[in-house]
Amino acid sequence: MDWPALRAAVAGCTACKLCSSRRNPVFGVGNEQARWMIVGEAPGEQEDRKGEPFVGPAGKLLDNMLAAIGLTRSEAPPERQVFIANVLKCRPPQNRNPQPEEIAQCEHYLKRQIELAQPRIILAMGRFAVQSLLQSQDAIGRLRGRVHRYRDIPVIVTYHPAYLLRNLPDKARSWEDLCLALDTFRQQG
Ligand code: URA
Repeated sequence: MDWPALRAAVAGCTACKLCSSRRNPVFGVGNEQARWMIVGEAPGEQEDRKGEPFVGPAGKLLDNMLAAIGLTRSEAPPERQVFIANVLKCRPPQNRNPQPEEIAQCEHYLKRQIELAQPRIILAMGRFAVQSLLQSQDAIGRLRGRVHRYRDIPVIVTYHPAYLLRNLPDKARSWEDLCLALDTFRQQG
């Protein structure tokens, strides 16, 4: 599937029960040739309304984090404009955690987005992004601070912005993670 076919497939997806409660599927946003791919968990209420990822308070924090390292979701060349995607494209009711069967039905969309964009680096935010990309059940605290790989692409693990809003002291750690991501990206030339 190319980008338009993938978008159409997500828009019409009925593979799991989340399709019956969603307002809008949330495909992802940003540059289709982005060097940086940001992977979150699943749409929340505001994302479900707008059809865009990370538009609530966690999204504001994400935008600020990206801006701190010179990146944006808005129109820009692929070195600066990221692509933001979630593991699940539809909102779980009451923002509950994604269920394993929902992830199993949905994660091939994320994987195809990665194949198409061919990013140089992936920032995996939170445990569901990590579980999906790295097949690891380990806590973020155990995985962060080093470079992992999804296929050949470096993956930096960090806290989910919604978690950071509730755990402000970990913001310093997430800044370290962003710096590691930037160093890793630059080392690739
Ligand atoms: N949290 C996520 O993981 N993704 C969103 O799009 C919004 C909140």
